[in-house]
Amino acid sequence: MNIQNYIYGRFIDPVSNEWIDNYNPSVGQVYGQTPNSGKEDVEKAFQAANKAFPSWSNTSIDERSRILLKIAQLITEKQSELAAAESKDNGKPLALATAIDIPRASANFRFFANAITQFASEAHESVGMDAMNFTLRQPLGVVGCISPWNLPLYLFTWKIAPALAAGNCVVAKPSEVTPMTAFLLGEICNRAGLPKGVLNIVHGLGTTTGQAIVAHPKIKAISFTGGTQTGAHIARVAAPMFKKLSLELGGKNPNIIFSDCDYENMLHTTVRSSFANQGQICLCGSRIFVERGIYQRFKVDFVEAVSKLKIGDPANPKTDIGALVSDQHLKKVTSYIANAHKYGGTVLFGGNNVQVEGLEHGYYLQPTIIEVQDNQCKLNQEEIFGPVVTIMPFDTEEEVLQMANDITYGLSATLWTNNLNRTMQMVKQIQAGIVWINTWLLRDLRTPFGGVKNSGVGREGGFEALRFFTEPKNICIKYQTSENGLTTKK
Ligand code: NDP
Repeated sequence: MNIQNYIYGRFIDPVSNEWIDNYNPSVGQVYGQTPNSGKEDVEKAFQAANKAFPSWSNTSIDERSRILLKIAQLITEKQSELAAAESKDNGKPLALATAIDIPRASANFRFFANAITQFASEAHESVGMDAMNFTLRQPLGVVGCISPWNLPLYLFTWKIAPALAAGNCVVAKPSEVTPMTAFLLGEICNRAGLPKGVLNIVHGLGTTTGQAIVAHPKIKAISFTGGTQTGAHIARVAAPMFKKLSLELGGKNPNIIFSDCDYENMLHTTVRSSFANQGQICLCGSRIFVERGIYQRFKVDFVEAVSKLKIGDPANPKTDIGALVSDQHLKKVTSYIANAHKYGGTVLFGGNNVQVEGLEHGYYLQPTIIEVQDNQCKLNQEEIFGPVVTIMPFDTEEEVLQMANDITYGLSATLWTNNLNRTMQMVKQIQAGIVWINTWLLRDLRTPFGGVKNSGVGREGGFEALRFFTEPKNICIKYQTSENGLTTKK
């Protein structure tokens, strides 16, 4: 199936008529073509968005909210089609796409459709100076949204929904590796009555299409989710133009397990936080630290639980682990495993490519557990972004805190303990944007979402996202007070 760009409400081929192969990772075969868009396509998308902006930014909050709610509803109605498309494009289990990815894409639109009706700005009375200030929060104009391949529609809509709710018009690019559901979203937007040009979706490579969006002098802000190196590059390109930037980048998150935790819940959740979506979630707890008293027990139980995970055809409802997203990514992940010994690691489980019957060319890999001795080793310091976790023991809170923080990343952390005092002391010192206690990936969309250090700049979620997509302008009104405090004299 061929994908087209979605510009001014129409589906069109790229100006160059150049195309990129789109792969189905579960079979390792090309199943369609994606536009290889260039600067001219981004310019067309910008012009469309710019034309739509005056009207969309003056559309009432109620009407914007109504249209976004309609998009949410249509995503839900098309849930099975979208989930099947996501699974085929990405290799993730269909069951996961059905239970998580697509419902969340719908929830993103529903959430921001409602949030905008509650969004308010501040007022400051300058007491004693006879002045009143209020803050106007106006949409920025045309903004760029660039998203990665691991949670394609989920993360694409997480950016687009608040941008549109706040009254901006958007030029968006999904990853060229997983463009299908973003393409299908265009039709949904048309059916929902989103005015032409309000959302424009341009497909292509990061280094050409993505670069053209970031470098466009009139695109006012960039909301980006992806790798840390790409984020650094985007920041360099955008900085001289003083663009507003929201960067959600990589992670190498600690999962810290104390012996006083609820063991069964921890074990079950740790399997998920390690390997959900083939470990290709920026929030996965890829560095597992276990208190020495339960280390041996955990090691045995964790290996046993992971060995029961079913690897196979993403379309099979019993599959826990589907295919990795691409051959290139599979090779990157397996190179860490092949060199584990060199980095001081011992593979306790997994590490092998898997041949799935009938899908022999798909990109399947066993979930892999590597025991390491030193947090400074490459396996613990670099983001592998696949079904690979490391485990190592610790003795004291101080030691584990030092190891958790001794890394360039700071996206999320998970803590397993029933000790409230320990929890409160540790959460203040862990260097991360998000800390989960006795749970993982429990999300309330009102909360701030993002990382510190090399995991990013800025926060998404709730009013933080609406603040990002608006420019605050303070209005100061000076007035005069007469003697009786009224304008009319007796
Ligand atoms: P990339 O950084 O390679 O790509 C992300 C997006 O940016 C893609 O759409 C890509 O296009 C595009 N892109 C690439 N180069 C440029 C450029 N020079 N200018 C503009 N856009 C560009 O990341 P991945 O897609 O490989 O995603 C995995 C990464 O994303 C991991 O590091 C992961 O941790 C991170 N991530 C972070 C999250 C967070 O919330 N903090 C959540 C999910 C993932 P294309 O793919 O077409 O080349």
